[in-house]
Amino acid sequence: MLKKIVLGILFLVGVQADLGNAADSWLIRNAVIYDGTGGEPINGDLRISKGLIEAMGNLRPMPGERVWDAQGLALAPGFIDPHSHHDMGLLENPAPASVLAQGITTIVSGVDGMTEVPVRQMFAEFEAHPAAVNLAAFGPHNNYRSMVMKDDFRRTATAAEVEVMKALLGADMEAGALGLATGVEYEPALYSDTAELVALARVAAKMGGRYTSHIRSEDIKFYEALEEIITIARDAGIPVNISHMKLAMAALWGQAPKVVERLNQARADGLDVTADIYPYDGWQTTMQVLLPERNLEDRKAYEYALTAIARPSTIIITLYEPNPSYVGKTLEEIALEEGVDPVDMLMKMMQTTAAGGGNEMIIGRNIGEEDIRTFMQWPYSSISSDGGIDDRHPRGQGAFPRVFARYVRELGVLSLPEAIRKMTSLTAQSLGLADRGLLKEGLAADLVLFDAATITDHATFTDPIQYSTGVQAVWVNGQLVWKDGQATESRPGRILRRSGTERK
Ligand SMILES: [Zn+2]
Repeated sequence: MLKKIVLGILFLVGVQADLGNAADSWLIRNAVIYDGTGGEPINGDLRISKGLIEAMGNLRPMPGERVWDAQGLALAPGFIDPHSHHDMGLLENPAPASVLAQGITTIVSGVDGMTEVPVRQMFAEFEAHPAAVNLAAFGPHNNYRSMVMKDDFRRTATAAEVEVMKALLGADMEAGALGLATGVEYEPALYSDTAELVALARVAAKMGGRYTSHIRSEDIKFYEALEEIITIARDAGIPVNISHMKLAMAALWGQAPKVVERLNQARADGLDVTADIYPYDGWQTTMQVLLPERNLEDRKAYEYALTAIARPSTIIITLYEPNPSYVGKTLEEIALEEGVDPVDMLMKMMQTTAAGGGNEMIIGRNIGEEDIRTFMQWPYSSISSDGGIDDRHPRGQGAFPRVFARYVRELGVLSLPEAIRKMTSLTAQSLGLADRGLLKEGLAADLVLFDAATITDHATFTDPIQYSTGVQAVWVNGQLVWKDGQATESRPGRILRRSGTERK
């Protein structure tokens, strides 16, 4: 009797496992398959099973299997966003349209050297409440520096302080961080020297990690900043990535070919140097970057910033807590309303917030369009958004579709397979993610099905919270998370840890 019961249970378990397989599997038929390598597409079918890509080719449905007729739409690896701030608010909003409508399946946090909460806490919270998309993170230098130096950060760190930062980074690396991220244009990292960055980068390098950086200057001291990151690559022996590469100063416009030449030379010297880039002529950050010396009392510095870096008409206020009515207006408009010179207006605004008056954020539309195209065509630049959930900058909602709409279809800057490569396999390589970024049997089933002829961003600088269209479906780890403009109930996102530190 006992034997019979046991056999019966085994039988039931077996049947359930079989049903589980069929219910867990998807057959996507009649797709134009872009595998992420940059090669020409093939027409065919793809089967997902147990979260992985099981087969590709001409496939027949299995009994009980769910079938999706792609009707000739483009099927590609899910897009990977190597520089994202969509992690902020992801716990409360785990399936954001800002992300999913773009076809993004993995976001990377810690970039600019900052996270909202410590990396290990972020991982634990995410695993307790997963999102629809995967999350990876770099160890955030600015956080470490704040923890160690507190308010006394306007100086180089002592050897003992660097040791503590190294230990903090080492612990995050153990937990699966991809490497070290810095944002050296911001406090407190602004006051670090190259030696501090190299010392930390060596810790990441030793553990198989990488270095990604919002470099020290994207305008006045751009070339020094470029040399600094190349030095870090060489001295620490680490792959480096330039975050959201741009020339944000009219005086530098047109110099992208010169920058690319320097990057190619570094690569020819054996250094692993890559970059990411977003498809907009405007950045968004704190107005503090306009004064790299932080000489807030020096009127001449403001005058210089508003003539050489960004004109008052190109600066849009996106957050200003001391006076929210400024939001959406340019600095020129606000100065006119208040009846003061734009230089004095900027001085007043910056001094108010610096004195604790509240937070601020501006968009500066001073990135040269020609340079965007040159950087985008560099074979080692991947696409990023630098955006957040319901961002006041359109990139949060539109970066990836905009590359297709504008830089593939409208301008012909990239071919479609190359644009996809820059959102998938190139990105996975430069992050060190071994099981993503390609459509290949056995790899994770992160997929995006989209209409290459119509995929479009709708977010603009004046109306940023408009979601992209043209993505029909998104799968993450084999589960459908986005369908016809709506998130599903599935939350299959995982923490993507550095190779060798994965938790099974
Ligand atoms: Zn940045």
